Amino acid sequence: MPFELPELPYAYNALEPVISKQTLEFHHDKHHAAYVNNLNKLIVGTEFENADLLTIISKADGGIFNNAAQVWNHTFYFDQFGKDKIEKLRGQLLVAINSSFGSFDEFKEKFSTAAKTLFGSGWVWLVKKPNGSLDIIQTSNAANPLTDGLIPILTCDVWEHAYYLDYQNKRPGYVGDFWSIIDWEIISGRY
Ligand code: MN
Repeated sequence: MPFELPELPYAYNALEPVISKQTLEFHHDKHHAAYVNNLNKLIVGTEFENADLLTIISKADGGIFNNAAQVWNHTFYFDQFGKDKIEKLRGQLLVAINSSFGSFDEFKEKFSTAAKTLFGSGWVWLVKKPNGSLDIIQTSNAANPLTDGLIPILTCDVWEHAYYLDYQNKRPGYVGDFWSIIDWEIISGRY
């Protein structure tokens, strides 16, 4: 059963002006789709041909890992935004953020700095550690926190293809505006 590209859970223009329709058309319909198609081609005739995505991410390496992780990472990234979003974080995740980072604003600052300073292509993550506390980590290229036993809660794609059409080289502009399109109800549900 080949992997399929999930549809975006909102309209292509829903995240404008932060993420334009044009960026989503490239990022979802071209980049995310290519990872799905590449993965489906690469696993033919391998031990991963009938494996689920998380199994492939935990066991594969090289091109199969890269494409499988990018399929998972992009689905996770696109799913966290919304048009009719819940804009304020409440509840248990807010308690945990305050406990781990001091305050919500300090968390935002630390996450934003990690996203602006990650060198090259990669992802920044808010993760839940096995002891329940939270941390912010950077990963390069396709790498995903799941392989280190960490539970992803929020992510920012800082590959240039995520923002270049809208912000060109100004990654800090994308990272600053990123906060305004997050659906905190979805993020809370991941904690
Ligand atoms: Mn991407």
